[in-house]
Amino acid sequence: MATTEQSSGFGEGPAEEMIRRTAREIAAEYDDEYWREVNHEGTEPDAFWQDCADAGFLGAAVPEEYGGEGMGIGAMTTIVETLEEHGCMGAGMLFVVTPVFGSITLARNGTDAQREQYLEPLVKGDMKFCMALTEPGAGQNTRNLATDAEPTGDGYVVNGAKQWISGVGRADKMLLIARTTPLEAVERPTGGISLFLADPADDGVECRPLDTGVPAPETQYEISFDDYELDASALIGEEGQGLYQMFDTINPERLVGAASAVGAGKCALRRAADYAREREVFDAPIATHQAIQHPLADHYSKLEAAEMLVKKGAWAVDNDGDAGAAANMAKLRASEAGYDACDFAVQVHGGNGLATDYFVVDLWKGARLGRIAPGSSEMMRNYIAERVLDLPRSY
Ligand SMILES: Cc1cc2nc3c(=O)[nH]c(=O)nc-3n(C[C@H](O)[C@H](O)[C@H](O)COP(=O)(O)OP(=O)(O)OC[C@H]3O[C@@H](n4cnc5c(N)ncnc54)[C@H](O)[C@@H]3O)c2cc1C
Repeated sequence: MATTEQSSGFGEGPAEEMIRRTAREIAAEYDDEYWREVNHEGTEPDAFWQDCADAGFLGAAVPEEYGGEGMGIGAMTTIVETLEEHGCMGAGMLFVVTPVFGSITLARNGTDAQREQYLEPLVKGDMKFCMALTEPGAGQNTRNLATDAEPTGDGYVVNGAKQWISGVGRADKMLLIARTTPLEAVERPTGGISLFLADPADDGVECRPLDTGVPAPETQYEISFDDYELDASALIGEEGQGLYQMFDTINPERLVGAASAVGAGKCALRRAADYAREREVFDAPIATHQAIQHPLADHYSKLEAAEMLVKKGAWAVDNDGDAGAAANMAKLRASEAGYDACDFAVQVHGGNGLATDYFVVDLWKGARLGRIAPGSSEMMRNYIAERVLDLPRSY
């Protein structure tokens, strides 16, 4: 992928055009059947992933000195949106789990040794990641994280449990978020949390798959840590600053999740428009009815509006600005618009909308997940209410 000049306005420059063209070419290699096997039967999407690596997509947001393209989150959101729009259902989750949780975290907050060791294999597609934040007892209240990484002088001993962690079974490394200072002993509840580079295959780590019912390329797991020993070199960044450092990961995660929702929504609408042109009921294609056309147009325009917010948030990340508000708004608008678009696409297909042959039912289920993770719509609204509108904290 060449690093030609990127657009600074609403139009797309040569770099974005090339990204979209390459993404479309990759997507064209993988048909619905391929994604059905990946998302339902657990087939590894290795060929697709290698194509993404060869195109430079996995290193889009990794600095050039570590073998990446140095193009930033804006490029990554364009990649994910285009792949999803052209049928690569689950590409968003794959990009969140490895390039965002792995490469972006290490590029932004890793030690020099961690960057040297892991970024190149991540960019080449030789290494996979997962990220263990969510806990059964804490939910989205990350201040209540109870997984404990007790400092021992030359390392840490971890005890606790995580839930809903994607991709653990095939991950080489795990970004683990744990408390290094007990909640009672910190000045602020957001303090005392640290980031670690863990290994799911280590002694002291036990992983059990969960069944979520969501067609997805990554299985979810619950994990228990039982006197799991980590070396001091496993710490990412500064001890106790983990939750603040995580914003460098969480904002890109939200933006890539948002881009994925926009792409999946457009994919569903294009399929609905194709179906509507073909399907004749009452002696005319259903596409001739405004009750079909207008909602399709509404949903498409809402996805385009959400895409603008994605670009705004990505621009803020790439220019070291405050990306929080735009990332939360982009994630909220994109996941809601993506879900509504997929839901209407199912409606346009009638009974076929629920037949697995037509794929839109998978897009619909995937879009439903987008309103819960990464980060639920309610938590996006809480952020906007408190941080943008200065309303009192409601919880
Ligand atoms: C398929 C899948 C993959 C996932 N992958 C990962 C992963 O790789 N790593 C990881 O760490 N986690 C992962 N998660 C977890 C995911 O991020 C959480 O499920 C999500 O953040 C919601 O948390 P919860 O399920 O604990 O819901 P809860 O926090 O229990 O919330 C339940 C409901 O209450 C609402 N709610 C809670 N508090 C408030 C409030 N203050 N105001 C308004 N509404 C509120 C929520 O919005 C939600 O609708 C995954 C989840 C799924 C389903």
